Amino acid sequence: MLTPDLETRLNEQMRREFASSYLYLQMAAHFEAAGFPGFATWMRAQAAEEQGHAMRFFDFILDRGGAVTLGSLEAPPAGSGSPLEVFEASLAHERKITASIDGLYEGADRATAAFLDWFATEQVEEEATVSQIVESLRLAGESGPALLILDRELGVRSAGPDAGP
Ligand code: MG
Repeated sequence: MLTPDLETRLNEQMRREFASSYLYLQMAAHFEAAGFPGFATWMRAQAAEEQGHAMRFFDFILDRGGAVTLGSLEAPPAGSGSPLEVFEASLAHERKITASIDGLYEGADRATAAFLDWFATEQVEEEATVSQIVESLRLAGESGPALLILDRELGVRSAGPDAGP
């Protein structure tokens, strides 16, 4: 059984994962409107992945005999900015998520810690992937042709659970 405190914090992390999905969906809409269908595809896949993360918490809480409580989702900031700015915002967001996953280990029992290990590893991958995209966008700068190539490259990402950039 989960302690009430751990149950509350796992529910809160589940909510954050759903909020991440919501954020990336807004970014996807922004990229569609801004003429970057490839970046939009990448963000849609990211949104689907975040929903998957949330469902891992959903299932874990239930498996441990806890109660799932869905909290409210804040509206994400209206999509705006250059691809570089949007991916920088995404990197900053993932760093916050990493910190909140790390915080969950505090007071976690063995089974919860083992469950969280998957997320700790996943966050390393997320941050590395997004950092690399940010680096590429920095190099591309204002170059239209370079941005178009990156848009095409990121557009090949599928919505599978293990989809890379
Ligand atoms: Mg996540």
